[in-house]
Amino acid sequence: MVIDLKPLIYDMRFEALQQWLESKGEKKFRAGQIFDWLYVKRVDQFEQMTNLSKSLRDLLQDHFTLAGLREITHQESADGTIKFLFSLHDGHAIETVIMRHNYGNSVCVTTQVGCRIGCTFCASTIGGLKRDLTAGEIVSQVLMAQKMLDQQEQRASHVVVMGIGEPFENFTALLDFLYVINHERGLNIGQRHITVSTSGIVPKIYAWADDMNQFNLAVSLHAPNNEIRSRLMPINRGFPLIELMKACRYYVDKTGRRITFEYGLFGGVNDKPAHAEELAELIGDLNCHVNLIPVNYVPEREYTRTSRDDIFAFLKTLQNKGINATIRREHGSDIAAACGQLRAQHAQKDQKLTKEGKKEKVSK
Ligand code: SF4
Repeated sequence: MVIDLKPLIYDMRFEALQQWLESKGEKKFRAGQIFDWLYVKRVDQFEQMTNLSKSLRDLLQDHFTLAGLREITHQESADGTIKFLFSLHDGHAIETVIMRHNYGNSVCVTTQVGCRIGCTFCASTIGGLKRDLTAGEIVSQVLMAQKMLDQQEQRASHVVVMGIGEPFENFTALLDFLYVINHERGLNIGQRHITVSTSGIVPKIYAWADDMNQFNLAVSLHAPNNEIRSRLMPINRGFPLIELMKACRYYVDKTGRRITFEYGLFGGVNDKPAHAEELAELIGDLNCHVNLIPVNYVPEREYTRTSRDDIFAFLKTLQNKGINATIRREHGSDIAAACGQLRAQHAQKDQKLTKEGKKEKVSK
C-alpha cells in the first residue's frame, strides 16, 4: 500500500477550509462544493470533484489526502450489527461499529489507538496508548460506515463516541470531529443525536457543560462506591466519586439536560441488590438515565457475566428507588463485539504469523 502522509481533508472544519481556500487565492464558496463532494456524494478521489477547476483539484491533491482508513475486515451479526476493523496509515488497527436501533443506525467510533486509562475490564487498554487519532481519522470512520449503509440505502443517524480510547483525552480532535459531522454541509448529524462517553475526566465535564451543551454526555460509572470504582477504573483515584458527581450535577444544572450513566455489571463485583441501593443513594435526585450493561466475558480479563436473574434484580432495585434505568440491548453477541476484541484478535493473529515466520527462518 502506498502511504500518503499528507493531512486528511476530513480534518478540516468548514470555516477552516474556507480560510485555506482564500489563502490560496480561491473563492471561499468552493468550500461548500468540496463539502458536498466529501459528505453528500462521498467520493474517494479529488479527480471526481468535477465542478472544481483542474488547478483546484490539483491543489487539493498536493495538500491533502482522502485515504484515511483501509478496511482490514468486517463482521456482520445476525441482528445487523456490523463491526469494522480498519488499518490507519501507520499500520495501527482500530474498530468501528454500526448498531441498529428502532430509531435509526448509530455508529460507534474510536478516538485513540489503545488507551491509557487502564480500566481493568477493558481489552483496549492492555497495550496502553499508542497515539491519538486525528479528527479526520474519526470522521473517516463515520464516512466508511455511511458508505456501507449507502449500499442498503440507509443513513447513519446517530453517533456514539464510545469506542476505543478516552475522547476527553483527545479533546481538540474530538471537537473538530463533532463540528464536521454536525455541520449542515457535512454529515449533518444533529447534536442531540451525538453522545460522547467519558470515563470521568472531571475538568473536561465542566468544559463540556459550558461549551458543548447540546451534545449528549454519558459517564462510565460502573460502581456505587470508591472502593469498587478504583478497582475497576484506576482513574477514580485521580477523580473520586464525590468530584465526579459534583461535575455531573453541574452539567445537568447548566444544560437542563439529562445525563447518562453507564453501569457495567460484573459478576460478583458490583451486581448485587445492595450495590443497586448504594448506587441509587449516590445518584439521588439527579436527572439521569442509568444504562445497565451486562458485560461480556473478556478472554484477557478475569470478569464473568452476571446471571440473568441478578441483572433483573439489580434493575428492579434501582427502579423501586425511583431511578430511571434500563438494560442495554446487546448488539452483535454472535461476533467479537465487546470493545477491543476484534482488534485484540487481529493482533494475536499478527503475532502468531510473526512468530511462525521467525520460526521458519530459524529452521531454514
Ligand atoms: S473502557 Fe474506555 S476509558 Fe476505560 S480503558 Fe477502555 S477504552 Fe479506555
